[in-house]
Amino acid sequence: MLIYEKGVITKTNMDSTNNIPPTDFIRAIIEEDNRTGKHEGRVHTRFPPEPNGYLHIGHAKSICLNFGVARQYGGLCNLRFDDTNPSKEEEEYVESIIEDVRWLGFDWGDRLFYASDYFDQLYDWAVELIKRGKAYVCDLSADEIRETRGTLTAPGANSPFRDRSPEENLDLFERMRSGEFPDGSRTLRAKIDMAAANLNMRDPVMYRILRATHHRTGDRWCIYPTYDFTHGQSDSLERITHSLCTLEFENHRPLYDWYIRELGIFPSRQIEFARLNLTYTLMSKRRLLELVREGRVAGWDDPRMPTICGLRRRGYTPEAIRDFCARIGISKVDSTVDIALLEHCLREDLNRRSPRVMGVLRPLKLVIDNYPENQIEELDAVNNPEDADAGMRKVPFSRELWIDRDDFLEDPPKKYFRLSPGREVRLRYGYFVTCVGVEKDPATGEPVEVHCTYDPETRGGNAPDGRKVKGTIHWVSAARAVPVEVRLYDHLFTKPDPGDVPEGQDYRANLNPASLERLTECYVEPSLKDAAPGDRFQFERLGYFCVDSDSSPERLVFNRTVSLVDTWAKIQKKS
Ligand code: ATP
Ligand code: MG
Repeated sequence: MLIYEKGVITKTNMDSTNNIPPTDFIRAIIEEDNRTGKHEGRVHTRFPPEPNGYLHIGHAKSICLNFGVARQYGGLCNLRFDDTNPSKEEEEYVESIIEDVRWLGFDWGDRLFYASDYFDQLYDWAVELIKRGKAYVCDLSADEIRETRGTLTAPGANSPFRDRSPEENLDLFERMRSGEFPDGSRTLRAKIDMAAANLNMRDPVMYRILRATHHRTGDRWCIYPTYDFTHGQSDSLERITHSLCTLEFENHRPLYDWYIRELGIFPSRQIEFARLNLTYTLMSKRRLLELVREGRVAGWDDPRMPTICGLRRRGYTPEAIRDFCARIGISKVDSTVDIALLEHCLREDLNRRSPRVMGVLRPLKLVIDNYPENQIEELDAVNNPEDADAGMRKVPFSRELWIDRDDFLEDPPKKYFRLSPGREVRLRYGYFVTCVGVEKDPATGEPVEVHCTYDPETRGGNAPDGRKVKGTIHWVSAARAVPVEVRLYDHLFTKPDPGDVPEGQDYRANLNPASLERLTECYVEPSLKDAAPGDRFQFERLGYFCVDSDSSPERLVFNRTVSLVDTWAKIQKKS
């Protein structure tokens, strides 16, 4: 289904006409469970972000999977914040996550939960395990626990505190909770097996002492449960049937099952899948946070960031992201997806929905010598050839126009069909014009003004005598142009694998110094005058653009969402 080249997915068997989610091993498991009546056909999943950063495109894969299978099998999906680590978590992240999941098009109904809501229940369960001799208070420091844990080949050593009586453990645990002991001085550990082959089963820590204000429980607690002692029980409390997570949790599964079994609670089942990796993209919240803190990007929503809010500001649509997630599918093997596929999905969606307009990024004045001086004509332009209902609009035409610098060359190479001396081209929706001269900057030799004559018979873009031109270029009436700023983006990193660096360096060495180009003297047609942040357009021949949130009523700022050149389609054609 997916074709890999050097570990990078370069092809899928799905195209735009075959856009059905493929059946994957997770859906196969669910269908088998439904067939055997394991949960009376009930399917209940959850998306469990830790509120310690903004969501990224990798999370979108998990969101689309969890909410997607629930929807597909008539089940439910919860949104649950996995908020057991008060030192890194913040309300700002909670709000952004809620906004982003909603924007992606998913709904958790009234099932918004927080692992911290279960702190009392988890505490009671810890007490229960202590009473049954399955957990003990350990006075070893974090370092000592690590040192006595053993290795993959050598067993660990039992803690000297392992055989405390349940009474002593209960007393100590209660005093841990009431704040008698300093941070880090004691832990509660599960009593499993220090010689277990799986290191996670070597008396893992269940609770640690940590004085930090929690975003929801405030200072009520000074002990916090670990991820492992929280996740499975949270799933169980919510009666999650299929707990889908990424592969790094695979060797936590025996512990997940151990807690559920020892507590005799609802048996949620953990199933792991491969996380999304994308070329030219970093996907770790910790590193994304570094980029933000160090000012290497303008914020979490910088349009170069792989965050959902960054993609949204860049002009991505939820439909394009969902389509991408459907096409990459779900597997058990780690791989990297070519970012060109994400851009391909985006172009397909934007092509369908974006109104076409004309804008000029690097303006060059074009003067039509034989066009009446103060005349302005309103020409008819098609709003979207992909959408018959999108209708037409008027575009003003005048003697002086802006065209893009790239569309004029004094000494054109072969196959250059745009404007050059003596050459006739079509002005989109307008007239045929022939270049009759060029004025140049005496110092630099750069063209500053191109002179043309027009053929009044070719209004609308066709010659009554049937003569053809090879090139059509876009333009904006200088008399009516709206000056705007345009921001062009390239990948944030110069290498497909941002972590591919020489010894002693890190991903920062691969930051692309040219990832943002700001063009401050651009012109767009007047129909865009009242465009609002988030509005999307295709600038003919230049790409898809959207209005940035930095815009003011006086000055619009556009992001180029993506260019028109589809490298993915090219790769597909070649292979
Ligand atoms: P990161 O490693 O980027 O910091 P995380 O795994 O710490 O992310 P969580 O908030 O714990 O972030 O993730 C919430 C859910 O999203 C988890 O179930 C996790 O497995 C899943 N997830 C995180 N990153 C990816 C990814 N790149 N691809 C698919 N799923 C992911
Ligand atoms: Mg995590």
